[in-house]
Amino acid sequence: MRREDFPILKQQVHGKPLVYFDNAATSQKPQCVIDAISEAYTTWNANIHRGTHHLSQVATAKHEEARQILADLIGAKQSKEVLFTRGTTEGLNMLAFSFGEAFVGEGDEIIVSGLEHHSNIVPWQMLCERKHAMLRVIPLREDLSLDMNAYKQLLSPRTKLVSVAHVSNVLGIQNPVEQIIRLAHEQGIPVCIDGAQSAPHIPVDVQAMDCDFFVCSGHKMYAPTGIGLLYGKENWLSQLPPYQGGGEMIQHVRWEGTTYNELPYRFEAGTPDYVGSYAWGVAAKYMQECGMAALAAHEQDLTAYAEQQLGQIAGVKIYAAGQKKVGALSLNVYDAAGKLVHPFDIGALLDQQGIAVRIGHHCAEPLMGTLGVVGTVRISFGMYNTREEIDAFIAALQRALSILLS
Ligand code: PMP
Repeated sequence: MRREDFPILKQQVHGKPLVYFDNAATSQKPQCVIDAISEAYTTWNANIHRGTHHLSQVATAKHEEARQILADLIGAKQSKEVLFTRGTTEGLNMLAFSFGEAFVGEGDEIIVSGLEHHSNIVPWQMLCERKHAMLRVIPLREDLSLDMNAYKQLLSPRTKLVSVAHVSNVLGIQNPVEQIIRLAHEQGIPVCIDGAQSAPHIPVDVQAMDCDFFVCSGHKMYAPTGIGLLYGKENWLSQLPPYQGGGEMIQHVRWEGTTYNELPYRFEAGTPDYVGSYAWGVAAKYMQECGMAALAAHEQDLTAYAEQQLGQIAGVKIYAAGQKKVGALSLNVYDAAGKLVHPFDIGALLDQQGIAVRIGHHCAEPLMGTLGVVGTVRISFGMYNTREEIDAFIAALQRALSILLS
C-alpha cells in the first residue's frame, strides 16, 4: 500500500519509528487530502449555495461533487440520500431525534446490540427517556457473536427501529447485518447500520445490504475531522422532520411559519463543512484508487497475522479469537496467577517504544461489562500498516511484559 503518501508516519516517537495502530480512533491523512484543504483555502473558499459570485459557485460545485463521490462509495442510489454531518455521532443523534419525533411513542421499542459504541446507545436512551419508550438489547453469545435467536424474539410490533454496528470497534468482528436487516424488514421495521468501523475497511453497498440508514465518519477514512454522513433511503428521509433549524434548510420563513427545503438540504442547517466534504471526496477517490477489495484483503492479512503472532505469547487473551476481524482486535494479558495486567501499563510501555495503541473501554462500557474487564488493549490497522510493524509491536509487547511480569 502507499505508505509514503502519509507524511506523519515518517516521524520517530520517543526515538523509535512511529508504529500507528490506533486507526479505529482516527486514521492518518495522505498528502493529497492535506493538499486539498490547503488548495480550498488558497483558491476557492467561499460560502456555498447562497452566492451568485464565481467562488461561491465553485465551492458549491465541489461540495455537491463530494456528495456524489460519497454516494458512489457507499452505493447509494441518489446523492440526495447522503446528508453531511459532523461524524457518526451526529448522524446517530440526528436520526434518534428526527426518527424519534416522527415514529416513536410511549411503549415503543428500539433494538441495539450488546457490543455497541456509546454513540449507538446513548442517543437511543435519550430518545427512550423523552418518549417513554424502551431500549432492548440483543445479547451476545459465549463467542461474542450476536444471539440471533434472542434477536428474533425481541422483534415485535412494538419495535420501531433496529440500530447495530456493522463492525465492532472493540472486537473487530462483523455482525450479520444482512440477516439482521432481512428479519427486521419481514416485520416492516427499518434498520440503521453504524458503519464507523466498516466503511474505512471493506466495500460497503447500502443498496445491496438494504439498510434504511447508514452512518460513518470521514476522519476514520483518511479524511479530515469534523465531517461524516448519514445515508437514508429517500422514502424514510422524506418522512422525517428536520433536526436543526437555520439557514439553508428552509424554503420560506414567515412569522406565521416556515416551510422546509428539499432533501438533502432540509437536514443541513447552517454553513456546512464544505472544505471537509471536498477533502473527504479526495480521500474517497484515493481509497477507490487503492481498491476497496485490495484494502480489505491487506487489512485482513494484518489482523490474521497479528492474531497468530499474539497467540504465541503466554498469557495473551484475544477477544473473539479465531473469528474473522475487520481492521481491529482487542486483547488483554494475564500473569501466571491469572491476574489481569492493567492495559494502561501495557499502553504506556508500548508508547515509550513508539507504538500507538488504544487502551481503555473504547466507548463501549456495556461490552466491557460482558467481557468482565475494565478495558482492553486494542490494535487497529489502516492501509499503510505492515507486517513488519506487527513484528515491532510484538517485540515491544514482549519487552513491556518482561518488565511488568518480572
Ligand atoms: N460508532 C463506532 C462503532 C465507532 O467506532 C465510533 C468511533 N470510535 C463512533 C460510532 C463514533 O464516531 P465519531 O466519534 O467519529 O462520531
